[in-house]
Amino acid sequence: LVVLDHVDKWFGDLHVLQDINLTIKRGEVVVVIGPSGSGKSTLCRAINRLESINKGSITLDGKKLPEEGKALAQLRAEVGMVFQSFNLFAHKTILENVMLGPTKVRKHKKADAEKKARELLDRVGVGQQAAKYPAQLSGGQQQRVAIARSLAMEPKVMLFDEPTSALDPEMIKEVLDVMVDLAHQGMTMIVVTHEMGFARTAADRVIFMADGAIVEENTPEEFFTNPKSERAKDFLGKIL
Ligand code: ATP
Ligand code: MG
Repeated sequence: LVVLDHVDKWFGDLHVLQDINLTIKRGEVVVVIGPSGSGKSTLCRAINRLESINKGSITLDGKKLPEEGKALAQLRAEVGMVFQSFNLFAHKTILENVMLGPTKVRKHKKADAEKKARELLDRVGVGQQAAKYPAQLSGGQQQRVAIARSLAMEPKVMLFDEPTSALDPEMIKEVLDVMVDLAHQGMTMIVVTHEMGFARTAADRVIFMADGAIVEENTPEEFFTNPKSERAKDFLGKIL
């Protein structure tokens, strides 16, 4: 579904993505881990074209990522992204936040968008909060709204960039549970996270990045119990 072929990216002299080759199949859940600055966020941002790449190609469903214009807006709708910070519109209610994309970008009828939004909010467990504003919700609730908002666009793939790292410990689980459900329902997901529990229960594959390159790629089981590279051993030694 998503194919990165010999992708390189530089920020000035810094080679942030180095010859990245990665194929993500439909329904696959890939966890990306690695030290700070290894290029994990840049990788995600390249996949929904928030960042351009300098070499190689990225395709979604067999089509090369568009450079600009309408096609780019369409791509952004097909690739959902959830960040560390929830990025909800503060002056809009929870329900309005989730309805915005479907009505403005997808041009769905308001009544249809509202029905769908309420279903999604129920699904992530914040249906009761629909009329509230983001600031009235906990971090965990806001992040679940952010997930519902992405899902409302019916994306082909969901990118998560450290979705729980800004949350208090007791809220991490409620967000991870939603993500695990999503994974079990067959969503194609690329998840940057250091949450080993999530990787073990939901990931098909773990990708370990260091210095802009994919250093190791394995099943979670193998990766966590038997890392091959020194970089991965060293990294796991620090976080486990
Ligand atoms: P973290 O775990 O801290 O989130 P990361 O693996 O997500 O790290 P990236 O954010 O992808 O790493 O950054 C990779 C490298 O690129 C870092 O050295 C970072 O400083 C640099 N970088 C990221 N964005 C830019 C930018 N817009 N301009 C210049 N350098 C950047
Ligand atoms: Mg990052």
